[in-house]
Amino acid sequence: MKAILIEKDDAGYRAALQDIDPARLPDGDVTVRVAYSTLNYKDALAITGKGPVVRKFPMVPGIDLAGTVEISSHPDFAPGDAVLLNGWGVGEGHWGALAQTARLKGDWLIPLPAGFTARQAMEIGTAGYTAMLCVLALEQHGVVPASGEVLVTGAAGGVGSVAVALLGKLGYDVVAVSGRPEEADYLKALGAREVLVRADFAAPGKPLARERWAGAVDVVGSHVLANVLASTRYGGTVAACGLAGGADLPATVMPFILRGVTLAGIDSVMRPRADRIAAWDRLARDLDPARLGAIAREIGLGEVIDSAAQIMAGKLRGRVVVDVNR
Ligand code: NDP
Repeated sequence: MKAILIEKDDAGYRAALQDIDPARLPDGDVTVRVAYSTLNYKDALAITGKGPVVRKFPMVPGIDLAGTVEISSHPDFAPGDAVLLNGWGVGEGHWGALAQTARLKGDWLIPLPAGFTARQAMEIGTAGYTAMLCVLALEQHGVVPASGEVLVTGAAGGVGSVAVALLGKLGYDVVAVSGRPEEADYLKALGAREVLVRADFAAPGKPLARERWAGAVDVVGSHVLANVLASTRYGGTVAACGLAGGADLPATVMPFILRGVTLAGIDSVMRPRADRIAAWDRLARDLDPARLGAIAREIGLGEVIDSAAQIMAGKLRGRVVVDVNR
């Protein structure tokens, strides 16, 4: 089978496309023939070695897959079943999905959600499923379209693009923040009414600023998140899921204690199964397939390493689907 393999030894940290004997696959009660995987920010961190994502070596990266069950001793899955996997540490501590075959725990799989092809599910991937979790968090905290403007940071990336598309379709007044002004038309076509420049948010700001956002989805962290919190309206909610700009949070408690702002932390990796199924059901309902087509593009397994470097350089737009069989 073909797979991306990450190795780390005296010769250094490296990733390469290799032919691997399937006998080397790890233990697991379900073997999946992978149709499509994706490239997320976390995969790019793993492949480039720019972040401590991989917990043991050698490692096949890839945190997302859609494919077909080949062999199963798990009671819920039989050969021929179409399945989906997001996270659970796959591609970090257990060989992952940037490969033609994966052997996994059946407990990590869910049936491919009705209404999606394998490819569409990977156009969404962990990034899109996380965007949905962020939108659900805003809803759970009472942020509705009538509440006012909602902000999405890192908007031209994977999570950001899907968040803009979802919020736009749901009728929110969406404002996007991007470091790439050339993507303004793309973001408006997805559902943003206005696009602001990242530089307005990236420098250290005041503990409290003019109240503007009823809610926000933040993928950036650091000063951007601190400034978003400072300009969130009384009672508003910010769903924070990412660290594309830094893992620090140089903020004060003022937005929390004076404006009752909620900071909702979003993790997709260990999210319980029921929440995953609910999020994918909502994606089937609330994500316009035409907008999804504009967000995603496809590459082959041989292009993964170059594309990972482009993600780390902030040069890739939207989502990247990987056809592992080409
Ligand atoms: P992408 O690389 O697709 O998008 C990230 C976007 O962030 C970029 O497109 C860019 O948007 C912006 N950005 C990049 N670098 C910087 C910077 N230095 N400062 C400010 N903004 C920056 O990644 P994803 O959308 O896949 O993931 C986004 C984040 O969310 C990542 O940190 C990822 O680890 C995290 N994540 C977390 C999950 C969870 O479970 N909590 C699940 C999925 C992702 P623009 O050019 O528009 O400014």
